[in-house]
Amino acid sequence: MLPKYSFIVPIYNEEETIQEMYRRISQVMNRMDGEVELCLVNDGSRDRSLQMMRELHQKDPRVVYLSLARNFGHQIAVTAGLNFVRGKVIVILDADLQDPPELIPDMVEKWRQGYKIVYAQRIQRRQEGWFKRFTAYAFYRILKNLADVDIPTDTGDFCLLDRQVVDVLNAMPERNRYIRGLRAWVGFNQIAIKFERDPRFAGEVKYTFRKSLALAINGLVSFSKVPLQLSTYMGFFAALLSLFMCVMVLYWRLVQPHSSLTGMAIILMAIFFIGGVQLFSIGILGEYIGRIYEEVKQRPLYTLAEVAGFYEDYAERQKSMSMVDEK
Ligand code: UDP
Ligand code: MG
Repeated sequence: MLPKYSFIVPIYNEEETIQEMYRRISQVMNRMDGEVELCLVNDGSRDRSLQMMRELHQKDPRVVYLSLARNFGHQIAVTAGLNFVRGKVIVILDADLQDPPELIPDMVEKWRQGYKIVYAQRIQRRQEGWFKRFTAYAFYRILKNLADVDIPTDTGDFCLLDRQVVDVLNAMPERNRYIRGLRAWVGFNQIAIKFERDPRFAGEVKYTFRKSLALAINGLVSFSKVPLQLSTYMGFFAALLSLFMCVMVLYWRLVQPHSSLTGMAIILMAIFFIGGVQLFSIGILGEYIGRIYEEVKQRPLYTLAEVAGFYEDYAERQKSMSMVDEK
Protein backbone atom coordinates (compact mmCIF):
# COMPACT_ATOMS: atom_id res chain seq x y z
CA MET A 1 0.00 0.00 0.00
CA LEU A 2 1.18 3.47 -0.72
CA PRO A 3 1.95 5.65 2.28
CA LYS A 4 -0.37 8.54 3.00
CA TYR A 5 2.36 10.83 4.26
CA SER A 6 5.90 11.36 3.00
CA PHE A 7 8.46 13.34 4.95
CA ILE A 8 11.51 14.48 2.99
CA VAL A 9 14.73 15.26 4.85
CA PRO A 10 17.85 16.36 2.91
CA ILE A 11 21.07 15.29 4.59
CA TYR A 12 24.55 16.65 4.07
CA ASN A 13 27.14 15.60 6.66
CA GLU A 14 24.61 15.32 9.46
CA GLU A 15 26.00 12.35 11.43
CA GLU A 16 25.59 14.27 14.66
CA THR A 17 21.92 15.03 14.14
CA ILE A 18 20.53 11.94 12.40
CA GLN A 19 19.78 9.87 15.52
CA GLU A 20 17.98 12.67 17.31
CA MET A 21 16.20 13.69 14.10
CA TYR A 22 14.94 10.15 13.62
CA ARG A 23 13.84 9.96 17.27
CA ARG A 24 11.85 13.18 17.12
CA ILE A 25 10.35 12.52 13.69
CA SER A 26 9.39 8.93 14.48
CA GLN A 27 7.45 10.15 17.50
CA VAL A 28 5.45 12.32 15.15
CA MET A 29 5.16 9.47 12.64
CA ASN A 30 3.64 7.23 15.30
CA ARG A 31 0.94 9.77 15.97
CA MET A 32 -0.14 10.23 12.34
CA ASP A 33 -3.45 8.79 11.15
CA GLY A 34 -2.00 6.91 8.20
CA GLU A 35 1.09 5.20 6.92
CA VAL A 36 4.18 7.41 6.78
CA GLU A 37 7.39 7.09 4.80
CA LEU A 38 10.45 9.01 5.90
CA CYS A 39 12.48 9.77 2.80
CA LEU A 40 16.08 10.67 3.60
CA VAL A 41 18.10 12.15 0.76
CA ASN A 42 21.84 11.92 1.13
CA ASP A 43 23.35 14.88 -0.69
CA GLY A 44 26.84 13.45 -1.12
CA SER A 45 27.78 13.42 2.56
CA ARG A 46 31.39 12.66 3.35
CA ASP A 47 30.82 11.50 6.92
CA ARG A 48 28.90 8.51 8.31
CA SER A 49 25.48 9.86 7.33
CA LEU A 50 24.84 7.35 4.53
CA GLN A 51 25.88 4.45 6.72
CA MET A 52 23.47 5.63 9.41
CA MET A 53 20.70 5.99 6.84
CA ARG A 54 21.24 2.39 5.73
CA GLU A 55 21.02 1.23 9.35
CA LEU A 56 17.81 3.15 9.93
CA HIS A 57 16.33 1.60 6.79
CA GLN A 58 17.23 -1.88 8.06
CA LYS A 59 15.71 -1.18 11.45
CA ASP A 60 12.60 0.65 10.34
CA PRO A 61 11.04 -0.13 6.93
CA ARG A 62 9.25 3.21 6.98
CA VAL A 63 12.62 4.82 6.35
CA VAL A 64 13.47 4.92 2.66
CA TYR A 65 16.41 6.71 1.15
CA LEU A 66 18.09 8.10 -1.91
CA SER A 67 21.76 8.79 -2.20
CA LEU A 68 22.97 11.32 -4.74
CA ALA A 69 26.30 10.56 -6.36
CA ARG A 70 27.83 13.83 -5.10
CA ASN A 71 26.87 17.04 -3.34
CA PHE A 72 24.28 18.66 -5.58
CA GLY A 73 23.00 21.19 -3.06
CA HIS A 74 20.02 21.38 -0.78
CA GLN A 75 17.42 22.41 -3.39
CA ILE A 76 18.35 19.58 -5.75
CA ALA A 77 18.35 17.06 -2.88
CA VAL A 78 14.80 18.11 -2.00
CA THR A 79 13.84 17.93 -5.68
CA ALA A 80 15.13 14.35 -5.85
CA GLY A 81 13.03 13.52 -2.79
CA LEU A 82 9.96 15.08 -4.41
CA ASN A 83 10.55 12.96 -7.53
CA PHE A 84 10.53 9.74 -5.56
CA VAL A 85 8.09 10.01 -2.65
CA ARG A 86 4.70 8.41 -3.01
CA GLY A 87 2.55 9.98 -0.30
CA LYS A 88 -0.62 12.01 -0.72
CA VAL A 89 0.73 14.61 1.65
CA ILE A 90 4.38 15.61 1.47
CA VAL A 91 6.33 17.46 4.15
CA ILE A 92 9.83 18.90 3.62
CA LEU A 93 11.99 19.57 6.67
CA ASP A 94 15.65 20.09 7.58
CA ALA A 95 17.74 17.41 9.24
CA ASP A 96 19.08 19.68 11.97
CA LEU A 97 15.73 20.01 13.80
CA GLN A 98 15.57 23.73 13.18
CA ASP A 99 12.19 22.94 11.71
CA PRO A 100 10.35 21.28 14.62
CA PRO A 101 8.63 18.08 13.38
CA GLU A 102 6.03 18.54 16.12
CA LEU A 103 4.50 21.24 13.92
CA ILE A 104 3.52 18.67 11.26
CA PRO A 105 0.17 17.65 12.83
CA ASP A 106 -0.88 21.33 12.82
CA MET A 107 0.11 21.59 9.16
CA VAL A 108 -1.90 18.47 8.35
CA GLU A 109 -4.87 20.03 10.14
CA LYS A 110 -4.69 22.96 7.68
CA TRP A 111 -4.43 20.50 4.80
CA ARG A 112 -7.66 18.89 6.00
CA GLN A 113 -9.30 22.30 5.87
CA GLY A 114 -8.52 22.34 2.18
CA TYR A 115 -5.17 24.07 1.83
CA LYS A 116 -2.85 22.55 -0.75
CA ILE A 117 0.28 24.28 0.53
CA VAL A 118 1.04 25.00 4.16
CA TYR A 119 4.34 26.78 4.65
CA ALA A 120 6.00 27.51 7.95
CA GLN A 121 6.90 31.12 8.53
CA ARG A 122 9.43 31.93 11.21
CA ILE A 123 8.70 34.68 13.64
CA GLN A 124 12.03 34.44 15.37
CA ARG A 125 15.45 33.00 14.73
CA ARG A 126 16.94 31.97 17.98
CA GLN A 127 20.69 31.92 18.39
CA GLU A 128 21.60 32.76 14.86
CA GLY A 129 24.25 35.43 14.42
CA TRP A 130 23.25 39.01 13.67
CA PHE A 131 24.86 38.78 10.23
CA LYS A 132 22.71 35.85 9.15
CA ARG A 133 19.61 37.43 10.68
CA PHE A 134 20.26 40.76 9.01
CA THR A 135 21.11 39.38 5.54
CA ALA A 136 18.14 37.01 5.64
CA TYR A 137 15.85 39.84 6.72
CA ALA A 138 17.07 42.15 3.96
CA PHE A 139 17.06 39.46 1.29
CA TYR A 140 13.48 38.32 1.86
CA ARG A 141 12.27 41.92 1.69
CA ILE A 142 14.19 42.71 -1.49
CA LEU A 143 12.93 39.50 -3.07
CA LYS A 144 9.35 40.29 -2.11
CA ASN A 145 9.62 43.66 -3.82
CA LEU A 146 11.31 42.48 -6.97
CA ALA A 147 9.84 39.06 -7.67
CA ASP A 148 7.03 38.54 -10.17
CA VAL A 149 5.22 36.23 -7.78
CA ASP A 150 4.40 36.92 -4.18
CA ILE A 151 7.06 34.97 -2.30
CA PRO A 152 6.20 35.21 1.41
CA THR A 153 8.92 36.64 3.64
CA ASP A 154 10.81 34.58 6.22
CA THR A 155 9.79 31.21 4.88
CA GLY A 156 12.25 28.43 4.28
CA ASP A 157 11.64 25.09 2.68
CA PHE A 158 9.77 23.73 5.69
CA CYS A 159 6.30 23.12 4.28
CA LEU A 160 3.51 20.69 3.56
CA LEU A 161 2.52 20.05 -0.05
CA ASP A 162 -0.44 18.23 -1.46
CA ARG A 163 0.24 15.50 -4.05
CA GLN A 164 -1.33 17.71 -6.71
CA VAL A 165 1.28 20.42 -6.05
CA VAL A 166 4.17 17.95 -6.03
CA ASP A 167 3.04 16.60 -9.40
CA VAL A 168 3.10 20.13 -10.78
CA LEU A 169 6.56 20.80 -9.29
CA ASN A 170 7.88 17.52 -10.71
CA ALA A 171 6.57 18.44 -14.13
CA MET A 172 8.47 21.73 -14.14
CA PRO A 173 11.49 21.30 -16.37
CA GLU A 174 13.61 24.11 -15.03
CA ARG A 175 17.06 23.42 -13.69
CA ASN A 176 17.40 26.31 -11.31
CA ARG A 177 15.27 25.09 -8.50
CA TYR A 178 14.42 27.73 -5.98
CA ILE A 179 11.77 25.70 -4.24
CA ARG A 180 10.21 28.45 -2.14
CA GLY A 181 9.77 30.49 -5.30
CA LEU A 182 8.33 27.64 -7.36
CA ARG A 183 6.04 26.83 -4.45
CA ALA A 184 4.67 30.37 -4.50
CA TRP A 185 4.47 30.34 -8.28
CA VAL A 186 2.20 27.28 -8.59
CA GLY A 187 -0.65 29.01 -6.80
CA PHE A 188 -3.39 26.88 -5.17
CA ASN A 189 -4.71 27.59 -1.69
CA GLN A 190 -1.73 28.49 0.46
CA ILE A 191 -1.51 29.35 4.12
CA ALA A 192 1.26 30.18 6.59
CA ILE A 193 1.81 28.66 10.00
CA LYS A 194 3.99 30.76 12.30
CA PHE A 195 6.76 29.14 14.27
CA GLU A 196 9.92 29.93 16.16
CA ARG A 197 13.00 28.60 14.45
CA ASP A 198 15.01 26.55 16.92
CA PRO A 199 18.79 26.57 16.99
CA ARG A 200 20.55 23.79 15.09
CA PHE A 201 20.58 20.59 17.16
CA ALA A 202 24.23 19.74 16.53
CA GLY A 203 27.00 20.14 14.01
CA GLU A 204 27.83 23.12 11.89
CA VAL A 205 25.72 25.04 9.43
CA LYS A 206 26.04 23.33 6.05
CA TYR A 207 25.02 26.43 4.18
CA THR A 208 28.20 28.39 3.88
CA PHE A 209 27.96 32.09 3.12
CA ARG A 210 28.79 31.31 -0.50
CA LYS A 211 26.01 28.75 -0.80
CA SER A 212 23.53 31.15 0.78
CA LEU A 213 24.59 33.94 -1.57
CA ALA A 214 24.25 31.63 -4.58
CA LEU A 215 20.77 30.62 -3.40
CA ALA A 216 19.81 34.27 -2.93
CA ILE A 217 21.02 35.29 -6.41
CA ASN A 218 19.24 32.27 -7.82
CA GLY A 219 16.00 33.29 -6.17
CA LEU A 220 16.27 36.84 -7.46
CA VAL A 221 17.29 36.00 -11.00
CA SER A 222 14.83 33.12 -11.39
CA PHE A 223 11.87 35.13 -10.23
CA SER A 224 12.55 38.68 -11.31
CA LYS A 225 13.55 40.54 -14.43
CA VAL A 226 14.17 43.74 -12.50
CA PRO A 227 17.97 43.26 -12.38
CA LEU A 228 17.96 43.15 -16.20
CA GLN A 229 16.06 46.42 -16.32
CA LEU A 230 18.48 47.88 -13.84
CA SER A 231 21.07 48.40 -16.57
CA THR A 232 18.53 50.40 -18.55
CA TYR A 233 17.90 52.64 -15.56
CA MET A 234 21.60 52.98 -14.86
CA GLY A 235 22.34 53.76 -18.48
CA PHE A 236 19.70 56.46 -18.39
CA PHE A 237 21.13 57.85 -15.18
CA ALA A 238 24.66 57.82 -16.64
CA ALA A 239 23.45 59.66 -19.72
CA LEU A 240 21.83 62.33 -17.57
CA LEU A 241 24.97 62.65 -15.49
CA SER A 242 27.18 63.03 -18.56
CA LEU A 243 24.89 65.76 -19.83
CA PHE A 244 25.33 67.53 -16.53
CA MET A 245 29.10 67.08 -16.81
CA CYS A 246 29.11 68.60 -20.28
CA VAL A 247 27.46 71.68 -18.87
CA MET A 248 30.03 71.81 -16.08
CA VAL A 249 32.99 71.44 -18.41
CA LEU A 250 31.62 74.15 -20.67
CA TYR A 251 31.21 76.38 -17.66
CA TRP A 252 34.80 75.81 -16.53
CA ARG A 253 36.15 76.42 -20.01
CA LEU A 254 34.33 79.72 -20.15
CA VAL A 255 34.82 80.96 -16.62
CA GLN A 256 38.19 79.41 -15.62
CA PRO A 257 39.95 78.60 -18.88
CA HIS A 258 43.34 78.03 -17.20
CA SER A 259 42.50 75.36 -14.60
CA SER A 260 42.72 72.00 -16.37
CA LEU A 261 42.92 70.03 -13.12
CA THR A 262 39.20 69.85 -12.35
CA GLY A 263 38.44 69.00 -15.94
CA MET A 264 40.82 66.07 -15.76
CA ALA A 265 39.26 64.83 -12.54
CA ILE A 266 35.81 64.97 -14.04
CA ILE A 267 36.88 63.03 -17.10
CA LEU A 268 38.52 60.36 -14.98
CA MET A 269 35.45 60.12 -12.81
CA ALA A 270 33.25 59.75 -15.85
CA ILE A 271 35.42 56.98 -17.27
CA PHE A 272 35.33 55.04 -14.02
CA PHE A 273 31.62 55.59 -13.63
CA ILE A 274 30.71 54.43 -17.13
CA GLY A 275 33.17 51.53 -16.82
CA GLY A 276 31.53 50.47 -13.57
CA VAL A 277 28.05 50.70 -14.98
CA GLN A 278 29.01 48.68 -18.03
CA LEU A 279 30.76 45.92 -16.13
CA PHE A 280 27.86 45.68 -13.71
CA SER A 281 25.36 45.44 -16.57
CA ILE A 282 27.41 42.79 -18.32
CA GLY A 283 27.54 40.89 -15.04
CA ILE A 284 23.76 40.94 -14.77
CA LEU A 285 23.42 39.80 -18.38
CA GLY A 286 25.88 37.04 -17.56
CA GLU A 287 23.72 35.81 -14.68
CA TYR A 288 20.75 35.38 -17.01
CA ILE A 289 22.72 33.99 -19.93
CA GLY A 290 24.41 31.51 -17.58
CA ARG A 291 21.00 30.29 -16.54
CA ILE A 292 19.81 29.99 -20.13
CA TYR A 293 22.94 27.94 -20.78
CA GLU A 294 22.13 25.69 -17.81
CA GLU A 295 18.60 25.17 -19.10
CA VAL A 296 19.53 24.35 -22.71
CA LYS A 297 22.15 21.81 -21.68
CA GLN A 298 19.29 19.65 -20.43
CA ARG A 299 21.49 17.65 -18.12
CA PRO A 300 19.72 15.57 -15.50
CA LEU A 301 19.31 17.44 -12.24
CA TYR A 302 21.18 14.83 -10.25
CA THR A 303 22.77 11.41 -10.49
CA LEU A 304 21.79 8.66 -8.10
CA ALA A 305 24.21 6.25 -6.50
CA GLU A 306 21.81 4.28 -4.36
CA VAL A 307 18.08 3.95 -3.81
CA ALA A 308 16.39 1.90 -1.13
CA GLY A 309 12.88 1.14 -0.03
CA PHE A 310 10.94 2.53 -2.98
CA TYR A 311 9.04 0.31 -5.32
CA GLU A 312 10.88 -1.33 -8.15
CA ASP A 313 9.18 0.62 -10.89
CA TYR A 314 10.33 3.89 -9.40
CA ALA A 315 13.90 2.76 -9.63
CA GLU A 316 13.21 1.46 -13.13
CA ARG A 317 11.93 4.84 -14.17
CA GLN A 318 15.07 6.54 -13.01
CA LYS A 319 17.39 3.92 -14.44
CA SER A 320 17.35 5.47 -17.86
CA MET A 321 18.67 8.62 -16.26
CA SER A 322 21.58 7.29 -14.22
CA MET A 323 23.02 4.28 -12.50
CA VAL A 324 20.69 3.02 -9.82
CA ASP A 325 21.57 0.29 -7.45
CA GLU A 326 18.36 -0.93 -5.84
CA LYS A 327 18.99 -2.43 -2.42
N1 UDP B 1 21.90 20.50 3.03
C1 UDP B 1 22.01 19.71 1.89
N2 UDP B 1 22.98 20.00 0.97
C2 UDP B 1 23.83 21.07 1.10
C3 UDP B 1 23.68 21.91 2.25
C4 UDP B 1 22.70 21.60 3.17
O1 UDP B 1 21.26 18.75 1.72
O2 UDP B 1 24.68 21.28 0.23
C5 UDP B 1 20.86 20.17 4.03
C6 UDP B 1 21.35 20.06 5.46
O3 UDP B 1 21.80 18.75 5.75
C7 UDP B 1 20.12 20.43 6.26
C8 UDP B 1 19.44 21.45 5.36
O4 UDP B 1 19.97 21.26 4.06
O5 UDP B 1 19.24 19.34 6.42
C9 UDP B 1 19.66 22.88 5.82
O6 UDP B 1 21.02 23.14 5.99
P1 UDP B 1 21.58 24.06 7.17
O7 UDP B 1 20.93 23.71 8.45
O8 UDP B 1 23.06 23.98 7.15
O9 UDP B 1 21.16 25.50 6.68
P2 UDP B 1 20.22 26.61 7.34
O10 UDP B 1 19.68 26.11 8.62
O11 UDP B 1 21.13 27.77 7.49
O12 UDP B 1 19.17 26.84 6.31
MG1 MG C 1 19.80 24.59 9.73
